[in-house]
Amino acid sequence: MNERQLLMIPGPISFDPAVLRAMSIPTDSHVSQEFVDLFGQVLDDMLQVFLAPHGYPFVVAGSGTLAMELGLANLVEPGNRVLVLRTGVFGERFSDIARRQGAEVDEIVAPLGEVPDVAEVEAKLASAPYKVMTATHVDTSTGVAVDVKALAALARKHGALSVVDGVCATAGMECRQEEWGVDVYLTASQKAISVPPGLALLVASERAIEAFRRRKTLVRSYYADWGKWLPIMESYRQRKAAYFGTPAVNLVYALRVSLAQILAEGMDARFRRHQRLSDGFKAAVAAMGLQQVPARPEIAATTLTAVYYPDGVGAELLKKVADEGVILAGGLHPDIKTKYFRVGHMGPAGPSDILATVGAIERSLKALGYAVELGRGVEAAQRAMGV
Ligand code: PMP
Repeated sequence: MNERQLLMIPGPISFDPAVLRAMSIPTDSHVSQEFVDLFGQVLDDMLQVFLAPHGYPFVVAGSGTLAMELGLANLVEPGNRVLVLRTGVFGERFSDIARRQGAEVDEIVAPLGEVPDVAEVEAKLASAPYKVMTATHVDTSTGVAVDVKALAALARKHGALSVVDGVCATAGMECRQEEWGVDVYLTASQKAISVPPGLALLVASERAIEAFRRRKTLVRSYYADWGKWLPIMESYRQRKAAYFGTPAVNLVYALRVSLAQILAEGMDARFRRHQRLSDGFKAAVAAMGLQQVPARPEIAATTLTAVYYPDGVGAELLKKVADEGVILAGGLHPDIKTKYFRVGHMGPAGPSDILATVGAIERSLKALGYAVELGRGVEAAQRAMGV
């Protein structure tokens, strides 16, 4: 790997050097007072990043899929009904996890590039006593973002707990967990949280914790049982040592640095910066005459852009762009897998990264025989970003 390459895939991303340096600090005992204080600070900071000051934070070694399991396995008991809203491939994962917990799963599958119809969601929630409704804030396979605020409010109105996958959104797209009444908001470290892969993060609401405490059956997963982790997280927050499973000490060091950077920027400023980068990249895509997967601008994520290849061009574009030092991602959604590519623009990415990426795409498209005027995309991006 070329160490100067620009990793513009929708996670993992190019990380900040200070975050990477924190990974190489000599590993301390996970029960030393210094580490306990640091972990406690991380959990306090997480509540600010999730905008859930009274929430219950969890940081557990594992990937985003574990965060999804930590979210569902603790709230679902055999026979419970779960409504899964699907805007791409990641909703299916929620359905699979819920079924393994013995839940009866219903799905609302949005047409490709669209969000579920709100009236349909409301009618479904009213039709049966759902224990949990899940949504994917940003589905990384389509670049579609749902209206978390509206969906969480609907779930609450109908007595369901909302579990929202923020893996490709948290700390990039706005989510005011407490104000919006989201019961579980979950993510992984490697995207807008901006820490190398390996940590599952989630915050549960008081309502979710109460529902967990009212369970009649044992959680079917040992490692994902909140009953094991809750006392540990509570202990760290009181700056006291506790042990269930060894924390990923060096990743927690890195998370401490990243969360401090995120909070120094401020959440509103950070959401706006992601919007600006996204506006810049999407303006360039339009100026180059390319179409996006999300059907409408209002439902397009600001953390990534999913773009259809123009006629006559395919995955060789990614190879050419990689030769220019910029790494992009191919398609993921099975219906259109070979027809589109994905570009992540989150975390520490800045306007210069957008311009370098757009420039590499323009040059590569031209080299592949697509009629694009060099500089059109770069100019559109600069105008949209106001640089
Ligand atoms: N949900 C979404 C929206 C994702 O993008 C991903 C990973 N790309 C996951 C869940 C699963 O996360 P992980 O690969 O870290 O298990």
